[in-house]
Amino acid sequence: MATYSTEGIALLVHKYKGTGRVVSFYTRKRGRVDAVAQGIGKPGSKLAAAVELFTLSRLMFVEGRDLDRIRQADVIEPHYHLRADMTRLACASYIAELTVKSSEPTHPLMGLFEHLAEAYGALCTAEDPEVVLWWYMMRLFASHGVTPELSCCCRCGATLGRLTCYLPAEAGLACSICTPPSNQMPLSAEGCSVLQGLARMPAIRLDRLSMSPQARVQVRHLLHTHADHQFGIQTRSRKFLHQMLAASQVAAEPPVPPTRQDDRSRL
Ligand SMILES: [Zn+2]
Repeated sequence: MATYSTEGIALLVHKYKGTGRVVSFYTRKRGRVDAVAQGIGKPGSKLAAAVELFTLSRLMFVEGRDLDRIRQADVIEPHYHLRADMTRLACASYIAELTVKSSEPTHPLMGLFEHLAEAYGALCTAEDPEVVLWWYMMRLFASHGVTPELSCCCRCGATLGRLTCYLPAEAGLACSICTPPSNQMPLSAEGCSVLQGLARMPAIRLDRLSMSPQARVQVRHLLHTHADHQFGIQTRSRKFLHQMLAASQVAAEPPVPPTRQDDRSRL
C-alpha cells in the first residue's frame, strides 16, 4: 500500500468501530483528508494526541480503498488554548466545520492550510477571537474564489459612499443609488472599513482592529450570510458560536448602576 507524509490539522473526529476514529484533517499537500485512526480509545495510544481537535501534526498516511489510515503522527502544535476557553473553542469549532464541509477530499486549495494554521495560532492569544474567525472566513472565501466585492458597487461599478448595503445574490456591496428599497443589510462606512482591513491585514495584527457594536453586528451578519449563499451548507457549530459570543459580550459590558427604583425595592 502506498504511503504519504504531510502536515495536517485535525478538524472533525467521529467514532469508528469500537476504539477507532475517523478524523478529517486539512493537510498541506492534499487538502482535506478523511482517515481512520485505529486503537485511539485504548490506553497508551500513540496517535491519540494527534487526533485531538485543532492539533497540528506531522502525519504519515497509508492509502486505502475507501479511507486512508494514519500510520504515524508527531504533534507539532497542540493549540491547547483553543480548548481551554469557550469563546475560542466556539470560533475554532466553526472554522473547522466550515473548512471541512466547504472542501472536497484531496483537492487542496491554494494557501488554505497556511491560513488555517495562522488562524489557530492567532486565535490562541487574540483579545477578540471573533475577529480572527472573520479573518479566516475572508481567506476561505478567497481560496474558493468567492471573495465578496468590497472595492466598488457590484451593480454599477461606482465608488462606494458612506452608506452601502450588501446584496447576497450579487456577492457584493451596492452604492446608495443601486440599493434596492427593500434592503435588509445596510453597511456603515465603519463596517466597510473593518471588512477591508480584514482582507489586507495579517492575523497577527488583528488586535489593532476595533469597532462599534453596530459595525460588529453588521459585519457578522454579512459574513455569515455570504458563507450561506456561497457554500450552501448547514453547520451545527454556528448556534454554539452565537451563544458563546452573546455570553462573552454580556460579560464584557460594564455593570449597570442601580436606579433609584432599584434602591427603593431593596429597602
Ligand atoms: Zn451602484
